[in-house]
Amino acid sequence: MKIVLATSNKGKVKEIREFLKEYEIYALSEIMSPFEIVENGEDFKQNALIKARAVFKKLCELNLQDEFIALSDDSGISVDVLGGAPGIYSARYSGEGATDASNRAKLIEGLKNKNVKSSKAHYTACIAVASKYGEFSAHGFMNGMAIDKERGENGFGYDALFIPNGFNHTLGELKDDVKLEISHRSKGLLLIKFVLKSLKKKFK
Ligand code: IMP
Repeated sequence: MKIVLATSNKGKVKEIREFLKEYEIYALSEIMSPFEIVENGEDFKQNALIKARAVFKKLCELNLQDEFIALSDDSGISVDVLGGAPGIYSARYSGEGATDASNRAKLIEGLKNKNVKSSKAHYTACIAVASKYGEFSAHGFMNGMAIDKERGENGFGYDALFIPNGFNHTLGELKDDVKLEISHRSKGLLLIKFVLKSLKKKFK
């Protein structure tokens, strides 16, 4: 059983590969030409399933469903003082052509507009799998604080603005292996590992 990731986000691909070391993992572009997936779900789970399903459909068209499963991650940050924004809109928070840097700038501006330097926040990840044996999903969360100044270069997305509970440093400052131990993505992937283990047996 091989896994193709329904994402081209380099940060996610790196973390998923690191966490699922025992599996043969392929980036989407290694298996098929990239195509547009409309993420019009109302929550992380719906969007994760939309992505995994779309990639699995392509796998079937390529007649690769006996070899591969599709695995997706839909994730984002929710900031309490911003009413839970950006949430499922984290990737496109600053509008068309959004980049990680422009999204961070918008979050900082949001905190400034509320006259606060920090706010409780959490990351959510929903990991979904689509395979010839069915669809599965699992959530993971990480609680902490969003701050109004970028600190550190590690990670991706909003990591330079997020201090996980129990730490004094942002994910941008903490080492990759610390994030891998505590992150929303890792927690979701840990649950999905049970699914992967039983699917692997079926593929043999
Ligand atoms: P998605 O690709 O639609 O799931 O969007 C995910 C977006 O949420 C990313 O582009 C990041 O902006 C943000 N995000 C999700 N997980 C993380 C993380 O682990 N660190 C930093 N930002 C994240």
